[in-house]
Amino acid sequence: MNIHEYQAKEILQSFGIPVPRGRVALTSDQVERTAKEMGGRCVVKAQIYAGGRGKVGGVRLAKNPEEAMDAGKELFGRLLVTPQTGPKGLIVRRILVEESVEIEREFYLSITLDRNSSRYCIIASAEGGMEIEELAAKSPEKIQTLTIDPFTGLRSYQARKIALALGLKGGLCEDCVKLMLNLYRCCLEKDCSLVEINPLVVTRAGWLLAMDAKISFDDNAIYRHREYPEMMDYSQIDPLELTAGEFELSYIKLKGNIGCMVNGAGLAMATLDMLKEYGGEPANFLDVGGGASKERVAEAFKIILQDPDVKGVFVNIFGGIMRCDVIAQGIIEAASEVGCPLPIVVRMDGTLVEVGRKLLLESGLNVQYADYLGDGVEKIVKTVCETV
Ligand code: ADP
Ligand code: MG
Repeated sequence: MNIHEYQAKEILQSFGIPVPRGRVALTSDQVERTAKEMGGRCVVKAQIYAGGRGKVGGVRLAKNPEEAMDAGKELFGRLLVTPQTGPKGLIVRRILVEESVEIEREFYLSITLDRNSSRYCIIASAEGGMEIEELAAKSPEKIQTLTIDPFTGLRSYQARKIALALGLKGGLCEDCVKLMLNLYRCCLEKDCSLVEINPLVVTRAGWLLAMDAKISFDDNAIYRHREYPEMMDYSQIDPLELTAGEFELSYIKLKGNIGCMVNGAGLAMATLDMLKEYGGEPANFLDVGGGASKERVAEAFKIILQDPDVKGVFVNIFGGIMRCDVIAQGIIEAASEVGCPLPIVVRMDGTLVEVGRKLLLESGLNVQYADYLGDGVEKIVKTVCETV
């Protein structure tokens, strides 16, 4: 689960990490008023669940409250497309108005989960700011990383080593050590999968300040934090993913054009791998779960059909507790509600497979059957290639 920069900064501040003065605004009038509070000169920052805003006009310096208001008017309701949003972009509904800070140096600092070691890992670089992705690709040696032992936690000497490598000295170095220890504490206590400060800056006045902040919470830990669901901004979440959440379906939108309906996360992963292997591109990951009802299957199928990128659907079901006739009924119900002109390839096996097949055969839908997984994958990839 993601949150906005202004929310992330509130959390960082509660862990003793200094952030610029600022306030979130929901209208351009509020932007103007807040700009006055900040003393006129300020930075107007579009709040979306993605970074890269600076490069596309989502972060603007305003010299006075009028300029701030104009920036607000331009940004509210706009779709911002950045390298991190995907081509559709994200809509701006909230704006952070912040004091404008004179920056001396910009650093990169984050803590995230390293899947290889299954540990938190701290990442830092003396060349922070807006080009960090490029730096990671071209000069990875300029990036410091340290895997944190969960039993000892992050130790001061380790943090100091990183701060020194960033070129910080004296009081600033010690401030940075404290900041890193606080950041690690924040990660643990708030169950974060990512806490990123980019840039962490040294101001002209000589202070460390988190100038940007990004936090992602571990979805599996949301139940431990009652306040998290309220922090969610639904305008930033794909409506199909929201519907999927309501029906307890695990759905993740992907870039391709083959819609996938599968039961079981393992089979779903294997299906995506196989599609790739055969040169296809999955449009989504979707696990309808173990014992889904007809209604849930229908919702799942509708979600796939509502995705305009989908050019064909691959249904891969191994019926155990899940019955193949229920799957067929769900598909037919969804298709009769929203219509399904797309080709469907079905690979089904297991409980009541014959009944399921018969139902689909008599449904009038454009269905092809596959005898086994490889056959199904080959058929859907071929069919979709022919139609696009
Ligand atoms: P993004 O990462 O989405 O591009 P940032 O918040 O990092 O957005 O802002 C981009 C750049 O704008 C920063 O690298 C920094 O140089 C500048 N900036 C951001 N906030 C402020 C501020 N309050 N005062 C001065 N400069 C700022
Ligand atoms: Mg940034």
